[in-house]
Amino acid sequence: MRRVILIGCVSLLSSMGCKKPSKGADPGPPGVMKPAPGGETDPGMRPGPRVRPRRRAAVQIDPAERKRRVRRELALYNSITLRFDAAALSGPDKKLVGALLRAVDLVERLNMVQIHPHNLRYDREIADRGTADDKVLFLRYQRPWCFADEHVACNAHPGGVPKLVGLYHWPKGMTDAEFEKISKAPNKKELLSNFTVVRRDGPGKWKAVPYAADPLFGPLMKKLAVTLREAAGHATEATLKKFLLSRAKAFEDKSPFPYDASDYDWIALKGKWEVNVGPYEVYKNPRHIKARFKMVFGLTDPKITARLARFKKVLQQMENALASLVGPKIYKPRKLDPRIAVRAIRVVSAGGDARAPKGATVAFHLPNRGKSVDEGLYKKVMLVNHSFAFTPLVKRRAALALAVDQQRYVDKLAGITNTTFHEFSHGFGAHDELKIKTADGKQTTVHEALKEHTSLMEELKADVTSFWFIAQSVKRGWLKPAEAKARYVTGLMHILGLSSYPLKGTYPRMVAVQLGWYMDHGGVTWDKGRFRVDFAKLPAAVEGLTKKVGTLQLTGDYAGASALIARYVKTVVPKKSYVYVGKVKGPLEQMKEAFKKADIKSVAISYQVSGL
Ligand SMILES: [Zn+2]
Repeated sequence: MRRVILIGCVSLLSSMGCKKPSKGADPGPPGVMKPAPGGETDPGMRPGPRVRPRRRAAVQIDPAERKRRVRRELALYNSITLRFDAAALSGPDKKLVGALLRAVDLVERLNMVQIHPHNLRYDREIADRGTADDKVLFLRYQRPWCFADEHVACNAHPGGVPKLVGLYHWPKGMTDAEFEKISKAPNKKELLSNFTVVRRDGPGKWKAVPYAADPLFGPLMKKLAVTLREAAGHATEATLKKFLLSRAKAFEDKSPFPYDASDYDWIALKGKWEVNVGPYEVYKNPRHIKARFKMVFGLTDPKITARLARFKKVLQQMENALASLVGPKIYKPRKLDPRIAVRAIRVVSAGGDARAPKGATVAFHLPNRGKSVDEGLYKKVMLVNHSFAFTPLVKRRAALALAVDQQRYVDKLAGITNTTFHEFSHGFGAHDELKIKTADGKQTTVHEALKEHTSLMEELKADVTSFWFIAQSVKRGWLKPAEAKARYVTGLMHILGLSSYPLKGTYPRMVAVQLGWYMDHGGVTWDKGRFRVDFAKLPAAVEGLTKKVGTLQLTGDYAGASALIARYVKTVVPKKSYVYVGKVKGPLEQMKEAFKKADIKSVAISYQVSGL
């Protein structure tokens, strides 16, 4: 029954895996937004433009053009299948894997209806009337519309269904002005919960409907809870059993904040299995508030986990170092919980928001909100087989874009350590919900103050700070200078990899700011069509940017963040597209062109499990 399939994927954070979601009825409850042609809301567009249909009439699409565009979109990635043979597993473990794969299917469906409430129907219609390419495209993107090609004809649905993403979570036709009122309503805490949908409730009033009570999400969450309990019945290890049961309970809990207790159980997982399931990331919601469902499960890689564990011992020292860099006036270091967990795993399967249309997630740091985060407790999970899937690609890119004498520094283990530090760095300094005081004395949170720049600034903080810890680690004797060179160069290659994706995504824009700053400060140079790390100058450039970004976040400096981004990426209105500006423009455009000429494509990961 496990049809493998698919595709998708980037390097830093976005994942893959794909099984065809099981067929199921599209609940299509009353009040669900009708599909109407209109602008898609993408990450990085919060607060979004007024969301309303541009056209009401059905879209006429030339079938030949549609097929051509779909084929071209599919060709953007090379497909890689990660195979897992379950034959050697014990009987209970095989049953556990079977139940978890069914849970992945349900998460796929939950995420699909979060993207668009009619997606399950589109899936059925595409299965009935679409071409083989249409089916593959829908599975890759979990929606009918292309990502890179925004033309209306680039559509897996033969009827060319209109683009709309993530609006179901908000009142129909909500404007920026209404969103502002929602943000100030007496029940704003529940309305702005990451786990509720917002509905109108009389003039000037809104109610928060917990996901579990929503007519579209609730029944699927109930099925997911039942499936997790079934998995718990096969789990032979106590912490896994406990987590599966407490997360199942949370999926049935009709409160706006149901996940706190099971978050602790997830962080405390021991044994060989790692299972992460729930609504977490908000990047793809039009207002960056409502969380999408994702699931990843796999087997622990004990060797790499042990290698990373040594860095865990110095986390508090890293937090203290960052606090003294930005200064005690704006930040006092948190006391980090020694139970913070770091795990490296080999992914068996992933679904929902854990597999993005382009690229593959190579790590995650969760939870990103809630009681455990307030206490400084979280877990980092490195996805080793996802990461290694990119190694040949990184080498090909390096051969084209990196100074020849620095290509020897590109190293896949340095890449995993960089990613680990990126994830560690999410846990230092600011986080989205941190209470802060702006320069004019206003009490607020990072998210409230930085608005649509929140995600970009948080990713920038994590990436730049992870670079900053390279020099800090050498200084403190935790890292050899030769290893530092590998980390810098491999990190630069990672940045260049992210730059090859469309600029409308959060990561490519984040990278433009980072690389632009390094180039402005001499840390990275562009020489005869290739990038080069200046090992003498890069550490100071990194330190300057780490301090700047940390300060912008901790003082909620919206104007400062806008100005920093605008130095390297310009937003083109009214189409809401982006272009490079400044020193990065020429080199990045030239590099992208070189990658294109050499037909360097990113990989799209899918999963196949056999032997059950
Ligand atoms: Zn990140």
